[in-house]
Amino acid sequence: MLKEKSWQQEAECKGLPVDIFFADSARDQKEAKKICATCAVSVECLAFAIESDCKFGIFGGLNHEERKNTRKVRAILASRECIDSL
Ligand code: SF4
Repeated sequence: MLKEKSWQQEAECKGLPVDIFFADSARDQKEAKKICATCAVSVECLAFAIESDCKFGIFGGLNHEERKNTRKVRAILASRECIDSL
């Protein structure tokens, strides 16, 4: 079993069904993104997904295709001074 990271304790998605965050359709992904938008640890989550090279799922409010947009990702991480995470 994977060890939970400390920031995951504060995750807005904690306890929610995981499949919400792994939906294929943009419509269903919207639900996950709404949850991420209120999450206090979205930057940590996004940095984790990038470092782990996650190919699926919504992390930090972005899906895999969106995470490949380096400029967008850097802007989000820079806004919270996490730019060293890249
Ligand atoms: S950003 Fe979204 S997926 Fe990441 S911990 Fe927060 S609610 Fe969960």
